[in-house]
Amino acid sequence: MGNATSGTVVIVGGAIVGSSIAYFLRELGFTGRILVIERDPSYRTSSTALSAASIRTQFGCPVNVRMSLFGADFLRGIKQRFGPDADVGFVERGYLILGTVADVAARRTGASLQTAEGAEIAMLGPDEIRRRFPWLRADDIELATFGLRHEGWFDAWSLLQLVRNAARARDVAYVEATASGVILRNGRVAGVRLDSSEAIAADWCVNAAGPLSAAFVRDLGIPLPVAPRKRTVFAIKAPLDGHDVPMLFDVSGAWIRPEGDGFICGIAPPAADDADAFGDFEPDYDLLEEHLWPALAHRVPALEQLRVQRAWAGHYEMNTLDHNGIVGPHDEIPNLLFATGFSGHGVMHAPATGRGVAEQILRGRYETIDLTPLGYGRIRAGTPLPETVIY
Ligand SMILES: Cc1cc2nc3c(=O)[nH]c(=O)nc-3n(C[C@H](O)[C@H](O)[C@H](O)COP(=O)(O)OP(=O)(O)OC[C@H]3O[C@@H](n4cnc5c(N)ncnc54)[C@H](O)[C@@H]3O)c2cc1C
Repeated sequence: MGNATSGTVVIVGGAIVGSSIAYFLRELGFTGRILVIERDPSYRTSSTALSAASIRTQFGCPVNVRMSLFGADFLRGIKQRFGPDADVGFVERGYLILGTVADVAARRTGASLQTAEGAEIAMLGPDEIRRRFPWLRADDIELATFGLRHEGWFDAWSLLQLVRNAARARDVAYVEATASGVILRNGRVAGVRLDSSEAIAADWCVNAAGPLSAAFVRDLGIPLPVAPRKRTVFAIKAPLDGHDVPMLFDVSGAWIRPEGDGFICGIAPPAADDADAFGDFEPDYDLLEEHLWPALAHRVPALEQLRVQRAWAGHYEMNTLDHNGIVGPHDEIPNLLFATGFSGHGVMHAPATGRGVAEQILRGRYETIDLTPLGYGRIRAGTPLPETVIY
């Protein structure tokens, strides 16, 4: 399939992943038609708009570290790429991931893997943790890993607008419609069907439909273990100076980071309560009362006083096989590509995914980062690539 510069690419889903693919297709010289099918241009319930918009290099899989480094470079270079007024408010500040004595060996291995890939991770012992973060209760903490560079947070909405507008300025058409399925002919994608029963001819179809990406290919009988799982974010105020507060991940699973003059925080629900959440965007306040607040107040005494300002819930596009992205061509339908399943890290990995998928379409191979480990083959083979650093 290599060296294609013309034809029609239909991308289903026009939030950060779909828009990044469209953007990089043009960036790399694709001169054909690019249609992005997006059912809701307000992006009201998209994961992108509802995300915590943070980036870390602390992952268990080397490919994820590389994708994050690419993402951090992309965020740092936003003005060079999109012009002097472009701004995504990138705050480059580390994730501080706490560990108990039981975590030490795994965390050391993780930090050396991340460092080998180019991340900059410090290992902090209890005294160093207390010295640098005196507001933290650390008596039960044996170590913390702390990203010195390439980690932080940003404004995902602004990032989406920049990438999407840049794509539109280069003749990428956004079509407001719901894509209902793929049309196959002789084992290849021939088009995409819309809800209106209109059909669009396509030389490639990319499934970037986020938490709904499994539904889009269901009719083809293609198993895609991606499910919408609800995650609630609470915006709070507390008597704690956020200036030096990193993105903190507690051993309980609770996380918190500064946002404006307050903080945002969250925690995953217990596995037994983490059902598929189609259409459910109600914040889960019980989670705050029963799990999040007690955990945060234990770790940071100042958070005993927290006041909730507002809360929202969005969906992770959870890869239930291994918590990793599913990226690249289907193993038997070469012009059907996936870009989904990121399980809570899809905004930070959108630039690398955009570039990688564009390389696949244009050149039939990966050139910048080898995304083969995230390929669809492992789904069919049932051989997971487990990501261990998950929240
Ligand atoms: C609470 C929360 C916190 C998060 N925190 C982070 C974080 O800190 N860092 C990070 O990197 N990631 C985070 N994520 C994950 C991240 O938001 C997602 O991985 C990422 O936004 C996925 O982008 P996407 O474009 O694939 O999906 P989405 O943003 O969900 O976009 C998919 C789009 O496809 C459209 N669509 C779906 N089906 C169809 C169809 N059939 N036809 C037409 N259009 C369709 C939808 O309308 C939607 O706009 C978080 C997610 C949540 C919910």
